[in-house]
Amino acid sequence: MRRKLVIGNWKMNGSLAGNSVLLSGIVEGYAARNADCAVCVPAPYLAQCQTMLKGTPLSWGAQDVSAYAAGAYTGEVAASMLQDFGCRYVLCGHSERRAYHQESSELVAQKVLAALNAGLTPVVCVGETLEQREAGQSALVVCAQLQAVLDVLETPALERIVLAYEPVWAIGTGKTATPAIAQEIHALLRKQVAKRNADAAAQLQILYGGSMKPDNARDLLAQPDIDGGLIGGAALKAADFLGIVHAAE
Ligand code: PEP
Repeated sequence: MRRKLVIGNWKMNGSLAGNSVLLSGIVEGYAARNADCAVCVPAPYLAQCQTMLKGTPLSWGAQDVSAYAAGAYTGEVAASMLQDFGCRYVLCGHSERRAYHQESSELVAQKVLAALNAGLTPVVCVGETLEQREAGQSALVVCAQLQAVLDVLETPALERIVLAYEPVWAIGTGKTATPAIAQEIHALLRKQVAKRNADAAAQLQILYGGSMKPDNARDLLAQPDIDGGLIGGAALKAADFLGIVHAAE
């Protein structure tokens, strides 16, 4: 039985004072019963997370990582640095990184390797744009994005990643994929991993992301291949985020 996992992606939002209120609210309301829960915050706030969340059941992580271990890469953050700040997770290949920073699937795969080498759990994000969906290319696109990662991973590493299906047309738009649409893609992704290793596929957590809210979370999370959520906008208010976490629990 796969455990549910809900991860908040704060994107480029937050302040020391605001984070303090938000994190306290989440810690207070999170019962850690049947679902794991984490927040992926802007890198400057990782120290704050480490201070506030250490010893609580809540995990934390980053939203991106360098493919390189160290050196002359101005502005980049190495996986070992994320580890220094107690991160458990790091998002790799979020659609905003792919779109605004021209991250290719091959680069995303290198980032996944860097994360794994530092003992972090990469959350590999895949998803198609609206144009791609309307052109009937959803399956093709997400499978190609996943395959680039599968191509660089040894089979045992498959058990150390998390996948997130985030249709680009549903991110921040208020348009959620229907449970049936999301389930179809999740099942497809699991089948693709199963071709490499059935056990790894069976235990792989595949999160859905894209306008998940407390009022639609239950139906999405009830699907057999949806193992949790990657939450953007609704992760910025403790009550909304906890509403989703409780639905998962
Ligand atoms: C995201 O950016 O990962 C996301 C799912 O955003 P939202 O929940 O706001 O659609």
